[in-house]
Amino acid sequence: MSKNLERLNANLAKAQPSATYRMMDRVAARRAAGAKIISLSAGEPDFNTPAHICDAAVAAIRAGHTRYTQVAGMRALREAVAAKFRTENGLDVSWQDTIVCSGGKQVIYNALAATLNEGDEVIVPAPYWVSYPEMVQLCGANPVIVACGEDSGFKLTPQALAAAINPRTRWLMLNSPSNPTGAVYSRDELAALADVLLAHPHVLVLSDDIYEHLIFDNADFHTIAQIEPRLRPQTLTMNGVSKAYAMTGWRIGFGTGPRWLLDAMEKLQGQQTSGASSISQHAALAALTGPQKFISVSRAVFEQRRDLMVQLLNDTPGLKCVVPGGAFYAFASCAGLIGHRTPAGTLLNTDEDVAHALLDEADVAVVHGSAFGLAPYIRIAYALDNDSLREACQAITRFCRSLSAEHGDESI
Ligand code: GLU
Repeated sequence: MSKNLERLNANLAKAQPSATYRMMDRVAARRAAGAKIISLSAGEPDFNTPAHICDAAVAAIRAGHTRYTQVAGMRALREAVAAKFRTENGLDVSWQDTIVCSGGKQVIYNALAATLNEGDEVIVPAPYWVSYPEMVQLCGANPVIVACGEDSGFKLTPQALAAAINPRTRWLMLNSPSNPTGAVYSRDELAALADVLLAHPHVLVLSDDIYEHLIFDNADFHTIAQIEPRLRPQTLTMNGVSKAYAMTGWRIGFGTGPRWLLDAMEKLQGQQTSGASSISQHAALAALTGPQKFISVSRAVFEQRRDLMVQLLNDTPGLKCVVPGGAFYAFASCAGLIGHRTPAGTLLNTDEDVAHALLDEADVAVVHGSAFGLAPYIRIAYALDNDSLREACQAITRFCRSLSAEHGDESI
């Protein structure tokens, strides 16, 4: 085994597999064995892709749009992406200022791989999406984790940002609304971060806006390059169709940024995947240019589920969660469960123990907070119908009530 490890690329050998996918695999294995699991692990909308988008894909196949496209994406889609950035985000860009990739993940990976060298640093505010630090490590660079606890609303402060920057810093990863906390940066908060970044033009910003449309309480969405246009030469603004149009499986992400960066990403992509699937690109074109009603309808559903989940979780002994402003995740502290023992005899030392015990003993799947850089928490993806969410919370509550303190029989 260790001999085979030595055969691997050293950066890959060091990196962790995706914690979200690992949990989804555990769920699949339990289901294959006949268990009925309620999965609150995968971060993807439970809705089907709207019919007009699917129809566009079928029409594209029938029309023979089944060949290679340009590496950076077909022109019609890049024009639609540029129009989206102009109208929704106030970014004055043309189609040449955009790139289309196989999912948002590939936009991020291409950008990092195109720019990072051994020893470079990338600032990753924690809690972070599981893949940021691993992608940085895959590129041979070092993630610099900046803890952003509940006291700062899980958000990076300008002071913490300034303290983390040094001459080796190449990127700041910014994600609002956030996976896993649902935290949303306000215009003023982004402006304050932008002030720090303007003083450090060697630092690039990756603004991961994938949850843009899942923002609640009538709040407005802001992206940093819009708030501070002078930051545009150092910003890659990234988005995609996965969350907004329930298109996770189609794998279409896109971005806009300085042309030198987009050119480098295109060069990399041209030697790697050749670009995104032609059929998915036609589907994404229909998503961006067709009726937009799905976005407001799904946002309203998620907001109502958010309210339900936060209430149910805060009614659960041992759990506590703040109200997330967006995305479809609740990030609940499970500090009250640590140190307790489950009926099956497992001592809950960590949030990972909690997540595994919930799956094994309550048939509910969540992802442990430490995978996102903050413990002890659990991330609950509430992308399921209300009945399933209620059923899941009942199972979690039963599980919590069944725990006993390590010394003595006292339950929580
Ligand atoms: N972004 C989703 C999540 O956090 C999908 C899985 C992944 O790519 O990590 O669950």
